[in-house]
Amino acid sequence: MSLKIWINGKLHDKEDAKISVYDHGLLYGDGVFEGLRCYSGRVFRIDEHIERLWDSAQAIRLELPLTPSALHEAIDETLRVNEIHDGYIRVVVTRGAGTLGLDPNLTADPQVIIIADRIALYPEELYESGLEIVTVSVIRNHQAALSPRIKSLNYLNNILAKIEGLKAGCVEALMLNSHGEVAECTGDNIFVVRRRVLSTPPVEAGILEGITRDAVIELGREAGLEVREVPLTKHDVYIADECFLTGTAAEVIPVVKVDSRTIGNGQPGPVTCDLRERFFKLAHGE
Ligand code: PMP
Repeated sequence: MSLKIWINGKLHDKEDAKISVYDHGLLYGDGVFEGLRCYSGRVFRIDEHIERLWDSAQAIRLELPLTPSALHEAIDETLRVNEIHDGYIRVVVTRGAGTLGLDPNLTADPQVIIIADRIALYPEELYESGLEIVTVSVIRNHQAALSPRIKSLNYLNNILAKIEGLKAGCVEALMLNSHGEVAECTGDNIFVVRRRVLSTPPVEAGILEGITRDAVIELGREAGLEVREVPLTKHDVYIADECFLTGTAAEVIPVVKVDSRTIGNGQPGPVTCDLRERFFKLAHGE
C-alpha cells in the first residue's frame, strides 16, 4: 500500500502528493514545520509540538488555516490510515503559492502537509558506543536575524553545518553562537554532565527549545540531579564527565568524543544511560 499524505484535508498517495512550484515554501523556505514521534500509537507531547508550530507560525506572521485541535485530529487520521503505531510525523506548513517575488501578501492557500512514516534511526551501535561530534565553523543563525526558536523551513544554516560535520566524518555537528558559546547541534540539543550537575545552554543562547530537551530537564530533576540552563563554552564540553544529545529522532544519544577529545572515560556515562532509560519509559507511557 502506498503511503498516504495528508494535504489540506485530503489524503493523497505519496506519488501524487504535490504542491505548486510557485509555493513560497519551495521558492524561499517560507514556512514552518514540526517533527513528532509516535510510540505504540501515542504521539509524544503532541500538544507541545502543536504549540511550538503555532509559535513558529506567529513569529513569521503566517496564519495557519486550521485550528490546533483540527491539526491534532489530522495527525491522528494520518497515522490511522497509514497504520503507523511507531513512527515519525512531519508537519509542514508553507506560505502557499505566490508570485516569483518575495511578497508574502501575494501568496494564497498555505499548504498544510502531514507525512507519517517509519523512523530513520541512528544505528543502535551508536547508542551503545556513543557518538563522535565536531564543532563546525558555521555559526548558528544570529537570533536577531532569524531566531533558532523558529522551526522554519529554511534549514540551510543547519545543513551547512551538517555538511561540514559529515566531511569531518561525524554524523552530528556542534554549532556555536555568535558569542562563541555552545548553541546546539544541527538537529539536536546538547547536554553535559559534570559532578552530577546536568547543564544545557539556555534558550537565549540561540537554540531551538527542544521538546526532548524539556522532557530531559524534567527527568534530570526527578532523578535528583541539579539541572542548569547556563551558557556553555567548548571548554565546558571538553571537561565534562558525560555529554549527550537530545531530539525527537535521536531521543537521548551519548557523545563520547568532541573535536577528537575523549569525553569522560570515552564510554556512555551512567547519568546518560539512566536518563535514556527514563526517557524511554516516559515516551512509552510507562
Ligand atoms: N535543535 C534543532 C535545530 C532541531 O532541528 C531539533 C529537532 N527538531 C532539535 C534541536 C531537537 O528538538 P526536539 O527535541 O523538539 O526534536
